[in-house]
Amino acid sequence: MEGNITFENWKWSVPDSPRILFAYGDGIGPEIMAVAKNVVDAAAEKAYKGSKHIEWVELLLGEKAEKESGSGLPDTAKEALKDYKVLFKGPLTTPVGGGFRSLNVSIRMLLDLYANIRPVKYIEGLDSPLKRPQDVDMVIFRENTDDIYTGIEWKYDDPELPKLKSFLESDMRIKVDNDAGVGIKPISKSKTERIARMAIKYAIDNNRKSVTIMHKGNIMKYTEGAFRDWAYNVAVAEFRDRVVTEDELSAKYNGVMPSGKILINDRIADNMFQQIVTKPSLYDVILAPNLNGDYISDAAGALIGDIGVLGSANVGDNGGMFEASHGTAPKYAGKNVANPMGMIKAGELMLTFLGWKEAAEAVANAVGTAMKSKKVTSDIARFVGVEPLGTKEFGEFLVSSMK
Ligand code: NAP
Repeated sequence: MEGNITFENWKWSVPDSPRILFAYGDGIGPEIMAVAKNVVDAAAEKAYKGSKHIEWVELLLGEKAEKESGSGLPDTAKEALKDYKVLFKGPLTTPVGGGFRSLNVSIRMLLDLYANIRPVKYIEGLDSPLKRPQDVDMVIFRENTDDIYTGIEWKYDDPELPKLKSFLESDMRIKVDNDAGVGIKPISKSKTERIARMAIKYAIDNNRKSVTIMHKGNIMKYTEGAFRDWAYNVAVAEFRDRVVTEDELSAKYNGVMPSGKILINDRIADNMFQQIVTKPSLYDVILAPNLNGDYISDAAGALIGDIGVLGSANVGDNGGMFEASHGTAPKYAGKNVANPMGMIKAGELMLTFLGWKEAAEAVANAVGTAMKSKKVTSDIARFVGVEPLGTKEFGEFLVSSMK
């Protein structure tokens, strides 16, 4: 059955031939997207022998849309996004220090994609700085809409700032230095609860071992500390029969996890950074507020040796956008040298969210085979010491390995 993907009660309802938007993006986008689409299609074919496949619908975004309509995100694109709700997206240019607002941020807001999800799993053949990189298999859920990223801040000499400082001093008895810039960090209960729910549900649906809440609640008690408490509350109130908290593990289970349950624990942010380096095997799904999540996503990516090979998802209750974690790499555009692996891993993640696990596994296996056989693009070939494949040829290798 062909049709659009629909959403109800956090559940994706996916027809056998879902219509999904894709955008080539800017810079290296068109080359890596062409490869990634072929790989996703080949994986679906391998897994379902024609009974399930994606009906791709092109969405004009970024420079291509700008040329045709004068806007990187024209109204027609907004309408299509609201209609189809799922987008497989190549990287888009964002000008530095002015110009238009990030299209990525605009799309996230349009579809309320409140979770940024980045799986980080070692792929044999990458040049990791760890002794046991094979222990790295984490999925980070970063809250995408709250925290200091809401941009509520004032420069130290903003003419409006003295009003706030005097209110704080007179009404709240808080003295802020005259020469201090000021920012406000909102962390709300509802926004914490929805991402905690999504992370725990993902852990259950994908047979993960644990969800670790990362926070700095010892210092920021009513924002990050509250994030921790609200996330625990969701775990216990909504998933009682599937989760065990760390306190319960020692009090009730003598430190031995009962089978079929997910451990919910928490770690203070600074500890978390050393933990993922020294004991990566203990960490699985990581749930973090926006800023911690931003930091830990790249730190975790570094553990496998190359964050450029990772995909990420922005997901909400009513849609999702899947993309590579890198940008447009303009110096490589049109040269058939860019590595499409990040875009392909984004495709694997999208297949996971569609519930097409067999196809997602086929993608992961094909990438693993290419890496083991040292069939790689130049960014990896240069440290492996082999002749590189072009972008297109790397894609062809993956597709043929699935036949
Ligand atoms: P970038 O595009 O990620 O590129 C930085 C460097 O990373 C490249 O020079 C190259 O390194 C390497 N690289 C990235 N992707 C690669 C690939 N697929 N294959 C091989 N090497 C790759 O970051 P940027 O230069 O900071 O940003 C360029 C533009 O992309 C900006 O307009 C930025 O706003 C945008 N951007 C978009 C997104 C998005 O759409 N989600 C995300 C990030 C950035 P070497 O030079 O060492 O070979």
